[in-house]
Amino acid sequence: MKSSTKHALNQIALDGPSASGKTTIGKMLAERLGFGFLDTGLMYRAVTLVASKRSIAIHDVDGLTAIAEGARFEVRHQGERDWRLVVDGADLTECLHTDSIDQNVSHVSALPGVRRALVRHQRAMAERQPIVMAGRDIGTVVLTNAPLKIFLVASAETRARRRAEDDDGNVDHLSYEETLKSLRRRDEIDSTREDSPLKPADDAKIIDNGKSTSAEVVEEILSMIGETTTEHAA
Ligand code: C5P
Repeated sequence: MKSSTKHALNQIALDGPSASGKTTIGKMLAERLGFGFLDTGLMYRAVTLVASKRSIAIHDVDGLTAIAEGARFEVRHQGERDWRLVVDGADLTECLHTDSIDQNVSHVSALPGVRRALVRHQRAMAERQPIVMAGRDIGTVVLTNAPLKIFLVASAETRARRRAEDDDGNVDHLSYEETLKSLRRRDEIDSTREDSPLKPADDAKIIDNGKSTSAEVVEEILSMIGETTTEHAA
């Protein structure tokens, strides 16, 4: 006899370039669904910050890998859309969007040893709870079986304008031109690196976040959820 079961959606992979709206949209989605939220970019930023605090150079592959392997990452939900990254007991969330980290993070995140260690932490977090996970390689590497994969796009100009206007967490208050230059540079490094380059998974749905509001994009993604649950013959 045939009956059909629907597989519950427990993971959403949300990828895209810098400032494409992953964090805003990811937090809104997590809230609507009652899921956890992890911005994996913060983890690469945290390794970059810890390296700088310990005077470990950006080309010290072993030193950087050891930081990523040894750090204890926790995500704390502190209130509505307020997710904190705690590393070795210290809440680093507010210290991670500086120009200096922007300059260096793409070099740190290109290192396979750093990636391997952080991907291990990310998968372990996804084992513990239903999750919306934002990054560059979530659909292609970290959660390849995620039932729903979204890849957000928007032009570099749109992303730089938004970033410069709302200055979201950027403590250095860069101008539009400086922000545009920095985003383009990171896009280039992230898309051309050998290990886990920024690209949509084959089964990702591409959403243009340049024309719609975040609320509209969230509704669009929520409307996809019913379509993603799969019918299985039993
Ligand atoms: O998302 P955000 O811009 O904060 O990410 C900072 C940097 O971390 C990116 O430019 C990229 O180099 C790296 N990153 C990555 N893989 C991820 C998330 C971020 O390589 N999953």
